Amino acid sequence: MLLASVRARMAERRTSEPRWSPEDATNAVESLGNDFEVAMLDRESREAAQITAALERLARDEYGICRDCGAVIGLGRLKALPFAQRCTGCQARVEAGEPGVESEWRRPALTARRSGGAPLRAA
Ligand SMILES: [Zn+2]
Repeated sequence: MLLASVRARMAERRTSEPRWSPEDATNAVESLGNDFEVAMLDRESREAAQITAALERLARDEYGICRDCGAVIGLGRLKALPFAQRCTGCQARVEAGEPGVESEWRRPALTARRSGGAPLRAA
């Protein structure tokens, strides 16, 4: 029977596995602390990473090009969101389709109303 064999295996492991030493426990706690620190830093480093990514895209001549559809991201959108990697349409699709996906940082006052991202000072 499955349950019985699982129980037998668990009992086996319990007797065959060595107990944790205090050093092991300390290491485990320390690595947990590191994970926590990383999570805290992640918030700040994300913005730095976006800046780095934007500079890399600039160097590769890809800045201002939507990474999904290849369309030119409007100047208005880039002014409001200098790290934008997608056009308005693709970003909306990503955010609507994948709730877990990292949403872009927005400045509400500068949110472009006109989709399509026409330059703000277009004649
Ligand atoms: Zn796009």
